[in-house]
Amino acid sequence: MTDLNNPIFQDKDKAREHLEALRWPNGAICPHCGNADPAKIRALQGKSHRPGLYQCAACREQFTVTVGTVFERSKIPLNKWLLATHLMAASKKGISAHQLHRMLGVTYKTAWFMAHRIREAMKDDSSDGPMGGEGKTVEADETYFGTKEGPAPTMTTSGRPFLKSGKATHKRAVVALVERGGSVRMFHVDKANRDSVRDILVRNVSRDTTLYTDESRLYTITGREYREHHTVKHSAGEYVRGVVHTNTIENVFSVFKRGMKGVYQHCSEKHLHRYLAEFGFRYNNRVGLKVSDWERSDRILKRIEGKRLTYRRTDEAAHA
Ligand SMILES: [Zn+2]
Repeated sequence: MTDLNNPIFQDKDKAREHLEALRWPNGAICPHCGNADPAKIRALQGKSHRPGLYQCAACREQFTVTVGTVFERSKIPLNKWLLATHLMAASKKGISAHQLHRMLGVTYKTAWFMAHRIREAMKDDSSDGPMGGEGKTVEADETYFGTKEGPAPTMTTSGRPFLKSGKATHKRAVVALVERGGSVRMFHVDKANRDSVRDILVRNVSRDTTLYTDESRLYTITGREYREHHTVKHSAGEYVRGVVHTNTIENVFSVFKRGMKGVYQHCSEKHLHRYLAEFGFRYNNRVGLKVSDWERSDRILKRIEGKRLTYRRTDEAAHA
């Protein structure tokens, strides 16, 4: 177990120094104008300044290490932010806001907002290139869990009455792509159908990829757009045929569902994409890729910048 008595979790100055070292390995960078010249950035010292305040000589603005990050303007001491980040990084199935509230000594509501900001930092970088490529294999699959919000429809998308046993009952749909030996990307879709699945595939997976799916008709047509497309017939009890299987993605779904059921329990549908980002991040920075809990946590801290604006649009930022 991680040493939660580490000074960076106890002392806000130690926490700030840790974050500065991670974000600014070559010295402070001005978040206002981008100036990174150490000769033109001065640490403000003395009684009238709080520790960690800098002034940029190029644009004359002042800043700290949290300006422009998901931690900006928070009243929560930075050591508590680092502890929350570490706990979320190290908990395989996630950690509830109730648990964070108890461990951090902050209100439940504050813990909830902190967790969502940390999930923002865990989100994929939109500049990540396509998955797969020549000689690479990507598994694609969809899963259903929980209950969709709003009234249950009486007809399916194809106009037939709903059957309880069918996959298209009133559940939330998630489509996922995972590259063998690589990363996962997960998407919440209103409906998993041929169009939504194709849209996700072509936007994320290189056409030179070998695609593995189950026999679902969702993938039949778009599968032809890929170098190779192999399927296993789950309905016929076939799960593995040599290298053709979707076990990698089934395992990702399994961890996700156990976490959503056992830890998070109540998640409104509009926040589902954040939980997907959280589980995806942990998978993509997993022990199997030799990423320790500390390294995983530090990787989140390196990604806290530049996401605050996105977050603000959800009008929840003012609470933590
Ligand atoms: Zn500046």
